[in-house]
Amino acid sequence: MEQIKRSPIKDLLMPTGESPVGRQVNVKGWVRTKRGNKNVAFIALNDGSIIHNIQIVADVQRFGEDALKPITTGACLSVNGTLVKSQGQGQQVEIQANEILVYGSADPETYPLQKKGHSLEFLREIAHLRPRTNTFGAVLRMRHAMAFAIHKYFNDKGFYNIHSPIITASDAEGAGAMFRVTTLDAKNPPLKEDGSVNFAEDFFGKPTSLTVSGQLEAELGALALSNVYTFGPTFRAENSNTPRHLAEFWMIEPEMAFYDINDDMDLAEDFLKFLVRYALDNCMNDLQFLNNMYDKELIERLQFVVDNKFERLTYTEAIGILIESNQIWEFPVSWGSDLQAEHERYLVEQHFKKPVILTGYPIGIKAFYMKQNDDGKTVRAMDVLFPRIGEIIGGSQREEEYDILYKRIKDLNIPEEEMWWYLDTRRFGSAPHSGFGLGFERLMLFVTGMTNIRDVIPFPRTPQNAEF
Ligand code: ATP
Ligand code: MN
Repeated sequence: MEQIKRSPIKDLLMPTGESPVGRQVNVKGWVRTKRGNKNVAFIALNDGSIIHNIQIVADVQRFGEDALKPITTGACLSVNGTLVKSQGQGQQVEIQANEILVYGSADPETYPLQKKGHSLEFLREIAHLRPRTNTFGAVLRMRHAMAFAIHKYFNDKGFYNIHSPIITASDAEGAGAMFRVTTLDAKNPPLKEDGSVNFAEDFFGKPTSLTVSGQLEAELGALALSNVYTFGPTFRAENSNTPRHLAEFWMIEPEMAFYDINDDMDLAEDFLKFLVRYALDNCMNDLQFLNNMYDKELIERLQFVVDNKFERLTYTEAIGILIESNQIWEFPVSWGSDLQAEHERYLVEQHFKKPVILTGYPIGIKAFYMKQNDDGKTVRAMDVLFPRIGEIIGGSQREEEYDILYKRIKDLNIPEEEMWWYLDTRRFGSAPHSGFGLGFERLMLFVTGMTNIRDVIPFPRTPQNAEF
């Protein structure tokens, strides 16, 4: 086969410079469909560079029927040919094939992705092949675009990316149940005299787990570099089989010295708007597909979020609205209890009809490190609530006063010996600071219009499921 440099299909369908029509080109990719007649075969080829396929036109006489036989849905090809203006409808250009090499065939009897639409549930069972569908191609390209946009946003603002550890010996964050990390023999662990497991003999010499959040370490970074962010995997052994929870998910946690809770909210709103705008500006091919296939209001909803100011109110005001609403709730509403998804979605979707930021939560339902208000009852926490998602961001101003933080740690029976390094930051050069955590897959749910979090991460980890 003649050596011609491979062109990504995107570059042929949407050239940025001079038109490539008339050129000898090579494309490589996977067959989506083949149709045709005795004289000519039309092969739709996709290489993932863009949602659209390129049409390959193969003259049956020239190649011979037998040579075209292994070209079935799912097969991988390399094609040399001339890029020409298309005579047919549905595409601007196509490739008149000169040479076709089949890298890998795909038995039509057993290849699970035939051309008809498959349910998202079925595709989860073949997560190793679902990247080859239009839907997951779109989701994965957008996932990349959002990850890139996150780094761009913070880099442009002078934030430094901090790599917080994945294995941790502290479970103080209290954000969720943790996964134990150990090299001890599960059947026969070393025991102490009292019969409990002797973790002194474990790999790290003490009990360790996978992190639920990088925040505490991000704070250490912020109290030296001023503005930092983490972007890494986090793990929660919460046995909640919901469409919005994963056992392994990615979180973005900016942490800023000299920011109060209002600065924190301003950053969160600006950040989310930047990301949604980035999706609109850079992912329109994929968005249009998702809009047509899954969610006819997707693009409109994204535009709405970019254009409108988020509603800000206190938890106490929100409780008042929920009580006055006369809705029938599954979980009763009362001051002091945590808001459930049904309450959050009522505020966002029914009452305000726009994103909402709640602040001033009761001290009893929030984490130990949040800055206490003078009322003695509430903390400077903030949650950003989005349509269809509920909580997308959780954050707070942090308690920077040593005495108050120390008392809170004692009151909650958090082991001081696990927290000495964190407390040290309040002993040496403490500073007001704030931060928040954005769940990356919650963002992905919002920007793609998908409804199940298992469909916005390549290989989801949920209770009873760690395949692939
Ligand atoms: P939720 O109440 O929805 O369980 P949370 O209060 O436990 O959330 P935080 O501990 O504040 O959440 O975590 C910060 C962000 O991480 C959340 O706002 C959300 O976007 C995301 N998040 C939390 N838990 C999960 C999970 N299990 N799977 C995916 N994303 C999550
Ligand atoms: Mn949770």
